[in-house]
Amino acid sequence: MSENIENISASMVKLMQKRLPAEEDFPDLSQHRNHMAKFLTLDMYRQLRERTTPNGFTIDGVIQTGVDNPGHPFIMTVGCVAGDEETYEVFKELLDPVIEERHGGYKPTDKHKTDLTASNLKGGDDLDPDYVLSSRVRTGRSIRGFCLPPHCSRGERRAVEELSIEALASLSGELNGKYYALKNMTDAEQQQLIDDHFLFDKPVSPLLLSAGMGRDWPDARGIWHNDNKTFLVWVNEEDHLRVISMQKGGNMKEVFSRFCSGLTKIETLFKERNHAFMWNEHLGYVLTCPSNLGTGLRAGVHVKLPNMSKNANFEEVLKKLRLQKRGTGGVDTAAVGGTFDISNADRLGFSEVELVQTVVDGVKLLVQMEKKLETGESIDDIMP
Ligand code: ADP
Ligand code: MG
Repeated sequence: MSENIENISASMVKLMQKRLPAEEDFPDLSQHRNHMAKFLTLDMYRQLRERTTPNGFTIDGVIQTGVDNPGHPFIMTVGCVAGDEETYEVFKELLDPVIEERHGGYKPTDKHKTDLTASNLKGGDDLDPDYVLSSRVRTGRSIRGFCLPPHCSRGERRAVEELSIEALASLSGELNGKYYALKNMTDAEQQQLIDDHFLFDKPVSPLLLSAGMGRDWPDARGIWHNDNKTFLVWVNEEDHLRVISMQKGGNMKEVFSRFCSGLTKIETLFKERNHAFMWNEHLGYVLTCPSNLGTGLRAGVHVKLPNMSKNANFEEVLKKLRLQKRGTGGVDTAAVGGTFDISNADRLGFSEVELVQTVVDGVKLLVQMEKKLETGESIDDIMP
């Protein structure tokens, strides 16, 4: 494999560009706090810059987002992305340790498990709607044979869009819906969908921009959704596809059931057109960001925790429950007014059902704590 890779690279790496020694090209990572920066050494860089993937993705493409974004105010970022399915194999000297650290010790020999049988979830239909404002489950899927958003060409991106429109048009019943291309929307329509939490943000995040995911915006981007906006598919944002099930209130069970059945139908529709999703036994579903490998699943609620979030133990409780917090406007926003987006921190090495179960059980406990703090009671006896 590695000999093969080096052969490709000799002819493909930046053909006409003057090649300076690796140390002249090595980025200054001295101020950085992300997983990539921790593991990338000059020696590793020297070795990896001699390679490219079959699609011409290089180590500089992998790390650019982490070089440009030393840290993030709210989350620990991975600092690297994949440009195609092969990236994870070709640059594994860097990506394996990043994956291991980000995914709780997940080893290169470990195998991932998938469970999309919603009936295996215990409970989850009874999160208190006085606290839980909305419930959501999302994942990403990549279509094999096309480069990923950091590296795809305009033509590939348009092909992914066209395939998606055609496949999704076959969904019926509760999942009957329509595709809306970004370029055919007015600014006001787009902003309304963003404000209502249905649509991805404009490409303002420096994480996405530095990774090359804002190229050609809004070409070939869009959103498909069913009539009542409970099942949605984003096309060509950070992943080829982002599949989302959501609704107001605390019935995570219903949200997850719709997620599983809809997602399974979508996979079948793509397969019928001879397009499989990128997947392997070790990494599970292969996605753009190493943080999303495995299930790609983020199950989350918007939940009111004005008291609990001020408690000195909040961070520790979240960590113990394997949960992550975000602001309600998305990953780049801070929480306002004590309302948070609380979701699973893990993606890989746990099944979809296990991750949603973590969120259901964890959110129940957080709400219980919030209620106790509200009436001035101690939460010591229910600490995880
Ligand atoms: P993702 O993991 O899907 O990329 P982001 O943090 O980028 O999530 O947020 C994308 C959008 O989804 C934002 O508008 C955010 O408000 C919305 N969102 C996320 N979780 C929920 C939820 N539980 N209920 C309602 N909207 C949500
Ligand atoms: Mg996002």
